[in-house]
Amino acid sequence: MKTKGHRKNKVNIVTLGCSKNLVDSEVLLTQLKGNNIDAIHESKNDDANIVVINTCGFIDNAKQESIDTILRYVDAKEEGLVEKVYVTGCLSQRYKADLEKEIPLVDAWFGTRDLSRLLKQLNANYKQELVGERILTNPSHFAYLKISEGCDRPCSFCAIPLMRGKHISRPMEELVLEAKNLAKGGTKELLLIAQDSTYYGLDLYKKRNLAELLKRLSDVEGIEWIRLHYAFPTGFPMDALDVMAERNNICKYLDIPLQHGSTEMLQFMRRGTTREKTEALLQTIREKVPGIAIRTTLIAGHPGETQMHFDEMMSFVERSRFDRLGVFTYSHEENTHSHSMADDVPAKIKQERVDQLMELQQGISLELNQAKVGDTYKVLVDRKEEGVFIGRTEFDSPEVDNEVILETKDYLRLGDFVNAQITGATEFDLTAKVI
Ligand code: SF4
Repeated sequence: MKTKGHRKNKVNIVTLGCSKNLVDSEVLLTQLKGNNIDAIHESKNDDANIVVINTCGFIDNAKQESIDTILRYVDAKEEGLVEKVYVTGCLSQRYKADLEKEIPLVDAWFGTRDLSRLLKQLNANYKQELVGERILTNPSHFAYLKISEGCDRPCSFCAIPLMRGKHISRPMEELVLEAKNLAKGGTKELLLIAQDSTYYGLDLYKKRNLAELLKRLSDVEGIEWIRLHYAFPTGFPMDALDVMAERNNICKYLDIPLQHGSTEMLQFMRRGTTREKTEALLQTIREKVPGIAIRTTLIAGHPGETQMHFDEMMSFVERSRFDRLGVFTYSHEENTHSHSMADDVPAKIKQERVDQLMELQQGISLELNQAKVGDTYKVLVDRKEEGVFIGRTEFDSPEVDNEVILETKDYLRLGDFVNAQITGATEFDLTAKVI
C-alpha cells in the first residue's frame, strides 16, 4: 500500500483505556515490527503517516475520550499531517455501524478480535512464531500479562462482554513462554490481568486453574513479583491463596472488584453473591494470606440504589478496611441488563455518594499507612521525578495505588529493588529512607 507522499510508511499506535488494551497495542506493535514495518507507540512527534487508535468503550467518559482522540487524528488527516486513520478496540467493536456513518474520514474500523485483518490492512501478516514475544511500552521492569480474554459473567451494568466476547483462557505454555521472554528482557514484576482472572482455565482445562498458573509463573527465573488483578468473588479458587501464601515472589496483594456492599444491590447487579458471603471471603483471604493488601472497586448510583443501600455500602467499607479503593459513578450503558431499569439516581447524588465513600476511605488509608511507619519494606524503584526516586512496595500496583517517595543520597537504578524504612505517611503515599 503506497500512501500519498510516498514517504516511508510509519505506524503510530495510540492506546486508550485499560491495561488489557495496552497489551493488545503491544502485541500489534510486536507483530508490525516482526513484519519490518516501522511502528511506534504514542509518538510524540508527527513522523508517522498512519495512525491506529486502540479505543475504549467502557463507560461515558472513556467513550468520549476515544471519540475526541479519533476526531483529533481525523482533523490531522484533513490537514495532511497523517494519511491513514484506523480505529480498533472496544469502542469500534461496540459502535462500528454508527461510527462509520458519523466519522466517514476514518479509513477502516476493526473489532477487538480483528488483529489479523488489521495487520493485513497494514500490509503485514500475523506471525504465529511471535506469540510469547512482546515489545513493552511501559518501563520494562514491570509488565502486564493478559491471561485470558472476554468474560462469561452476567453483571447487569457491564458492557465488557459485549465488546470483548466470551471468556477465552490463554494456554499456560504460552503464558509461561511470554513470562520467560519478559524476564529475559528485564521484567521483574508481572501483573496478571483479565476481565475475570479467577475464571482462568474453566474453558480450556475444565477447572479453575489459576493456582497452577501462579505456580508455573512463580517458577520463572528472574520474576520477583507476581501481582493478581481482576479477581471475581463468586467461585473464588481458594487454592490460589495457598500458592500466594507459600511463594515469596507472589505479592501479598489482591485486586478484587466487589462493586457493592449491599446484598440487595449485589442481586440487582447480578453478581451472584451477598454481602455476608463477600465478608466471609475477605476474612478467609486475610486468614490464608496474612498481611495481604486488598484493592477493590465499587459502583455508586446503580439503578434501584436507595439511601439505605448506600448506608449499607458505607458500613461495609468501614468494616472491611480495604487497603486500596476505587469508586465509580454508575454509567447507564445501552444493551446491558441494567439499561432496562430506570437510571433513577440523580447524577448529583451519584457523585455525592462517590465522594462520601472516598472520604471514608481516605481516613482508613491514612491509618493503615501510618501503621507502616518504622517498618522496612522491599521497594521497586519505578522512576525519578524532580530529582526524587519513587517506588512501590509489594502492596502497590503501578498507576493505581500508593507510591513510596525515597529519601537517599545515592543514585538508584530504575527497576532495582531497595530496602527502605518508612519515615512518613499520608493517605495515599509513603516516604522512606533507603537502608
Ligand atoms: S466480571 Fe467484570 S468484565 Fe465480566 S461482566 Fe462482570 S464486571 Fe464485566
